[in-house]
Amino acid sequence: MIPIKSEKDLEMLRKSGKILARVMLRLQELIKVNISTEEIDQLAEKLILEEDAVSAFKGYKGFPANICASVNEEIVHGIPDSRRIREGDILSLDLGINYKGYFSDLAVTLTVGKVDAQVKKLIEVTKAALSVGITQARQDNHLSDISYAIQDYVERSGFSVVRQFVGHGIGLSLHEEPEIPNFGLPHRGEILKNGMVLAIEPMVNMGTWEAEILNNGWTAVTKDRMPSAHFEHTIAITSNGPEILTN
Ligand code: MG
Repeated sequence: MIPIKSEKDLEMLRKSGKILARVMLRLQELIKVNISTEEIDQLAEKLILEEDAVSAFKGYKGFPANICASVNEEIVHGIPDSRRIREGDILSLDLGINYKGYFSDLAVTLTVGKVDAQVKKLIEVTKAALSVGITQARQDNHLSDISYAIQDYVERSGFSVVRQFVGHGIGLSLHEEPEIPNFGLPHRGEILKNGMVLAIEPMVNMGTWEAEILNNGWTAVTKDRMPSAHFEHTIAITSNGPEILTN
């Protein structure tokens, strides 16, 4: 069963999402060539604490950092370390916060300096795939209408969707029911209802959809080591259609 949020919960989730969006925007402004992902993590922690929130990732199943910072061939769950961002890199920043018990989750892929045209296209397609998925998040649609719309859009654009990692329900904890794959047939799974809150997050690869986990037990990379992009929003299904909370 997918939880339905009360009006009061939705009000708090809106606040959580707004804070997260603000933190992400300020964080993006601080990213430049030669910064290390560890330094980005420290900046993120400071910005989150200034907003009276805490990272929802730090300590989650033992994850050691405040953010996930995934560079180039890294898909998700990159652990911040001494790796420095170089001209032409792409950086996926994924950040979840807990604000007074209300969780929101947001991811973006940024370009640093001049980036190859095909890589830029990968990022644009991933961002657009998120919008296409969000459009399907409305009352009386099936859950898999979101999944199908994302996969269809991505594959028609010449890229592939990651299978091992999926979006999720969110709200009173970071991961709630349901799982939201970025692939699948339409008109399957639960019927969507107003009051559901979902984190929709296409992960799109330039080459094969297959992924591997590095020895640190966390970082997912593309099997062919080609680039991958990731965008995520936390949204609520409302009587006015999908409402993006992390904007
Ligand atoms: Mg997420």
